[in-house]
Amino acid sequence: MASRAISDLHPQLQPLAETFLRRCRDHGVDPLIVCTWRSAAEQDALYQQGRSKPGAIVTYARPGESAHNDMLHGSPAARAFDVVPLLGGKPVCEADHPHWQTMGGIALSLGLYWHGQLDAPNPDFPHFQLSLEP
Ligand SMILES: [Zn+2]
Repeated sequence: MASRAISDLHPQLQPLAETFLRRCRDHGVDPLIVCTWRSAAEQDALYQQGRSKPGAIVTYARPGESAHNDMLHGSPAARAFDVVPLLGGKPVCEADHPHWQTMGGIALSLGLYWHGQLDAPNPDFPHFQLSLEP
């Protein structure tokens, strides 16, 4: 089971994630973190979906390639989190729902990279990532 804990995010990303969640609520969006860190085995299981296993392709990242797999000093330190807006307690699935743009705008104002941007190579609306600096 992938982690949903803020404490499994990279130390730089933790305060940004807290601020992001608070600002979403201030803007009337009810955000639910569905994934912060996931192991290589969990990444492989996701990668196989839509390839060796049934279902739709949900990731292009092999184990170790995802920002969700990052480690720091032997501990989980994901550089990305996945979050979905809830409406009446249920996840919003429509990509054109305005809550996504609200969340994307908040993320961009915090300097995060949002994979739901139209110019993203493979749009992934729930994925928010710390910019990848060396
Ligand atoms: Zn993600």
